[in-house]
Amino acid sequence: MTALMHTEENRQREKIATLSRSLYERGLTAGSSGNISVRLEDGWLLTPTNSCLGELDPARIAKLDWNGTLLAGDPPSKEAFLHRSMYEARPKAGAIVHLHSTHSAAVSCMGGLDRENCIPPLTPYFVMKIGRLPLVPYHRPGDKALGDVIRGLAARHGAVLLANHGPVVSGPDLEGAIYASEELEETAKIFLLLRNTSVHCLNDEQIDELKTVFKLDI
Ligand code: ZN
Repeated sequence: MTALMHTEENRQREKIATLSRSLYERGLTAGSSGNISVRLEDGWLLTPTNSCLGELDPARIAKLDWNGTLLAGDPPSKEAFLHRSMYEARPKAGAIVHLHSTHSAAVSCMGGLDRENCIPPLTPYFVMKIGRLPLVPYHRPGDKALGDVIRGLAARHGAVLLANHGPVVSGPDLEGAIYASEELEETAKIFLLLRNTSVHCLNDEQIDELKTVFKLDI
């Protein structure tokens, strides 16, 4: 059993490194920004502090227990508490992606946003992968109060947008969390392209139809 668990852990380590590199190479993260985590049977993996997502060493990805104790690898990202808060509120979340991706971060700096749902339902894909996206008020980097706010929102929302910062997106597994992050980034781009334009969003009836047909929990 232990050997099997380690095989699964190593598989997840490799997958984090491979998919992180893909995000980096496509400009979805830059420098040492962004961090990615995956839930394991016996703890969780998180990308290390000051690491570049373009060149992660799978063996050095941090492994933590649920008290935040480092079990293996390099010290974790200083934003570990964002991930932990979201996992605590979403027991079914298998992975979390936090990026400072340009268009989502740009939206997070805009005035006049609907704080309950800061990107409107422009496409069915955004509704299906993200749903309603709340804006979390600004907190300075490392402010642990941010963890409490995320914990309060994450039971109802699989993704949140941190003001003047970027998105935190959960998914059932790593691919799911990354695809949802990419859908959010692309929709943020569309949202910015459509500024000052008359826009048709999906209406309540169309959203209800998506919820029914695709059994969405949003
Ligand atoms: Zn950040």
